[in-house]
Amino acid sequence: MVQSLNRNLLAEDKAVIAPFCCKPDVSFVEGKGSYLFDADGKKYLDFVSGIAVNALGHQHPAVVKAMQDQIGKFVHLSNLYPNYPQIDFAKKLLSVTHFGKVFFCNSGTEANEGAIKLARKYFDRKGDERTQIVAFNGSFHGRTLASLAATGQPALWHGFGELPRGFLHVDWNDVEGLKKVVNAKTCAIMLESLAGEGGVMRLSPEMAETVNALHKEFGCLVIVDEIQAGMGRLGTFLGEERTGLKADLVTLAKAIGAGLPLGAILMTQEIADNLKPGDHGTTFGGNPVACAAGLVVTNVVSDPKFLAEVQTRSEELQAGLKSLIQKYSFLGEIRGDGLLLGVTTTKPVSDLVVLARKEGLLIHRAGTNVIRLLPPLNVTSAEIVEALEKLDRTFSKVPA
Ligand SMILES: *Cc1c(COP(=O)(O)O)cnc(C)c1O
Repeated sequence: MVQSLNRNLLAEDKAVIAPFCCKPDVSFVEGKGSYLFDADGKKYLDFVSGIAVNALGHQHPAVVKAMQDQIGKFVHLSNLYPNYPQIDFAKKLLSVTHFGKVFFCNSGTEANEGAIKLARKYFDRKGDERTQIVAFNGSFHGRTLASLAATGQPALWHGFGELPRGFLHVDWNDVEGLKKVVNAKTCAIMLESLAGEGGVMRLSPEMAETVNALHKEFGCLVIVDEIQAGMGRLGTFLGEERTGLKADLVTLAKAIGAGLPLGAILMTQEIADNLKPGDHGTTFGGNPVACAAGLVVTNVVSDPKFLAEVQTRSEELQAGLKSLIQKYSFLGEIRGDGLLLGVTTTKPVSDLVVLARKEGLLIHRAGTNVIRLLPPLNVTSAEIVEALEKLDRTFSKVPA
């Protein structure tokens, strides 16, 4: 294992990296499967997975091989030329979903930005003037201006001048609130299949039904942001299958590139048929190395046997969390689905994250009071047991 003698990592980071993220004083030097190792050789069970990116853990052999093979051919061509890494990957994505075409980009926010543009352009091409996007309070769709306007967190909007107009927000799972604002002027309803950042909140079945019904009644599009919940994380390839939502546009990112920057917009054939060359574009989007790696990940995480395992691991983790909730009064309820799980707490989440890391377990927060667990999707039962033991030890050390 690589040993680093650098003890000033955090200070050096602070000296040169823009101060947007509060980082802990830890120096990871290697990842293997569900584990990360720091410069002192300490082992951490990684239940963050690079924020739901490393779906198959670190250094999955087939992923590493696909990346290396493609690097040996060409790394970048631009979208001026067709290429098989993109085509083969698109074929796979379309074969496991109900969509007609794929557009590849580089990140989640770009996928959402693109989906918003394509929804508006779709109506424009039909001579229909609708541009209004109905999104949800507490949602997270990204940091670029239109995705930020869709993001239902006013605290993140301030100080950036006028954001793109035409965005409305209603409360998560507020069926009546949604019905009040959606009409024949609505261009799209935009929502996550499970609200990750906002607090690991499931979509209610009534809400999914309402979205589908409004889609039918008013002909508005449905954009489902599956950037965190898609790619097998909920125990189905898309969260859509779990929620019953019928999307016209689905956005993917995070896990889709096996750790390389990649995003995708899946669209119905009907939408693709109404768009023209030049309507949207990208230089780096659909990087061949990322697509080659993405094909490997997708082959694994779309396999029904693998997805059944994800559901079993989810049940194991939830059963363990239930016992911990009974044992510790500062824990509230289980949130989420599949391997995107959360536990509410009355203790400061950031303190729990630090304590867990001391125990050798990496976890993350969501919303203001939720511990978020994002294990790799190929996590083993033994690793789930280990994580639960580490959580137990963590909680036992929380000051009263
Ligand atoms: C992470 C995330 C995004 C933004 O993705 P980036 O790649 O960081 O731009 C958008 N939507 C959801 C639901 C996410 O979890």
